[in-house]
Amino acid sequence: MKYFLTLVIMLLVLASPVMAQTEQPSQTAQPAATTPTFESDVIKGEKGDIKLTFIGHASLIIEHSGKVIHIDPWSKLADYSQLPKADLLMLTHEHQDHLDAVAIDLLKKPDTSVVYTEFISQQRDDGKVFKNGDSGEIDGVLIEAVPAYNIVHKRENGELYHPKGRGNGYIFTIDGRRIYVAGDTENVPELKELKNIDVAFLPMNLPYTMTPEMVADLAIAIKPKVLYPYHFSETDTSIIVNLLKDHKDIEVRIRKLK
Ligand SMILES: [Zn+2]
Repeated sequence: MKYFLTLVIMLLVLASPVMAQTEQPSQTAQPAATTPTFESDVIKGEKGDIKLTFIGHASLIIEHSGKVIHIDPWSKLADYSQLPKADLLMLTHEHQDHLDAVAIDLLKKPDTSVVYTEFISQQRDDGKVFKNGDSGEIDGVLIEAVPAYNIVHKRENGELYHPKGRGNGYIFTIDGRRIYVAGDTENVPELKELKNIDVAFLPMNLPYTMTPEMVADLAIAIKPKVLYPYHFSETDTSIIVNLLKDHKDIEVRIRKLK
């Protein structure tokens, strides 16, 4: 017992400087609220920078002039309570990886503008409906809703994953740049007519959206200056890079958009 007590006392004496050190409050330690970091790119606008942040899958943030646009936020990918709140919140369609009430609730503030499809308006009443072909300006950003649908890829029961007329892609004109976020679509004829696209986000996963060959076909028709394949799940991104390697006018950027 005596030896045991001596041992305990010795250990306490030895440990005390270490404990004192580790318990010392440090001014340079982690900030109280840790903001998660995600990969971003900056696009030069006519007057300022446009920042694109890649949350993952189909979830993106576009920031310009202090305004924050969230597109298809999905709480499975990020702690949205730690991300900047939305001035504009854009939803492409009603599937759970694009329409997530948890993320929406965390991002909304009293003056957030929400834009969604007519189909989504059957379950929500907090936004403006844009149908395919509609356009409008919100907070100085011109928004055009374009079609997003399948013609090839179907469920076993024959129903298309994304029937025509239900989903939207969006073209944002911000500070003289046109940024196209396609939603879940295939390389359908209307989309091949899109003009003057600076940046395009095109989906590339099976069975729901496009093969790399379909993405290449659409990209060659649209000729965006920068192409981000997104919503690509397990698809091998080297295939699209290879398919477009001779199209020097299209810069393919692979980011964490699985
Ligand atoms: Zn999807």
